[in-house]
Amino acid sequence: MKKNIKIRLYAGQKLNSGDEWIPEATQTHYLLNVLRLSAGDKLKVFDGQSGEYLAEISQANKKNCAISIGEKLRDMETSPDLWLMFAPVKKDKTDFIIAGATELGASKIMPTITRYTISERIKKERFEAQAIEAAEQCRRLDIPEIAEAQPLENILKNWPQGRILYFMDESRQSEDAAKVFGSAAPLSAAAVLVGPEGGFSEEELQRLRTLPFAKGVSLGKRILRAETAVMAALSCWQAQCGDWK
Ligand code: SAH
Repeated sequence: MKKNIKIRLYAGQKLNSGDEWIPEATQTHYLLNVLRLSAGDKLKVFDGQSGEYLAEISQANKKNCAISIGEKLRDMETSPDLWLMFAPVKKDKTDFIIAGATELGASKIMPTITRYTISERIKKERFEAQAIEAAEQCRRLDIPEIAEAQPLENILKNWPQGRILYFMDESRQSEDAAKVFGSAAPLSAAAVLVGPEGGFSEEELQRLRTLPFAKGVSLGKRILRAETAVMAALSCWQAQCGDWK
C-alpha cells in the first residue's frame, strides 16, 4: 500500500511523526486543485533533514489543507559530496541541467560564469524550485544546495582544501572518464565543471591545467552539448566512484 503512494512533497521544515504540517500555497493548490485530493488521502512527505514520512490530508476546504505526519518510512540519507559547476545556458536547457543534476545526486549546484558564458538572467529561486520538484519526483531525501552564480575565477580562488575539481575537457588532451574516476577514492569530495556552449577559453584551460587540485577529464571523441556533458560527467562519476556502487 505505502509503496503505491506516488505523491511526494518536500516540507521546508523539520518534521516529526504526530506533527501537523501546513503546506505552502502552491503545494496546497497542487494537492487540492490539480490532483483533486481531499481529507483522508495519503501522501509521502520528506523534510530534507530527518527523512520521509507517511502522511494524510487531515483537513481540507477549497483553499487550505492540513497534513498530519504519520510513521517514518525512511531515515535521512544524504547525497555524495559532489558539486556540479556549470555555465548557465538557455532557460529550458538550464532547467534540464538542474533537474538532471538533482536526479543524478549532485549535492550542490553552482552556476559558474566563464569567459564565453552567454545566459539569460540567472534566477536562483527558479533553480531552487526546479531542484525541489526533481527531488520530489526522484525520491531523493535531500535537496541540492543552489549557489549564487559566481565567476569561475572567484570560485577557483576560494577553492576548499581536499576537494578535487574535475573539468570536462573536450580538447582530447585529458584522460578518459572511466580511467580518471575509476582511480579516484570512492565518495571523496569532488566537483565536476562543464563549460558553456562556446567551450572554455584557451586561458581558462591553461589556468585549470596548472591548478594542483584540478584534473581534466575526457568524455570521448564526440563534442557533447553542455547539458549532455553534465549528465555524462555526473553519471560516470556516480558509476565509478559514487553511490551507484
Ligand atoms: N565550443 C566547443 C564545445 C563546447 S561543449 C566546440 O565546439 O569545440 C560544452 C562543454 O561540454 C565543454 O566546455 C566541456 O566542458 C564539455 N564537453 C563537451 N564534449 C566533451 C567531451 N567530449 N569531453 C569532455 N568534455 C566535453
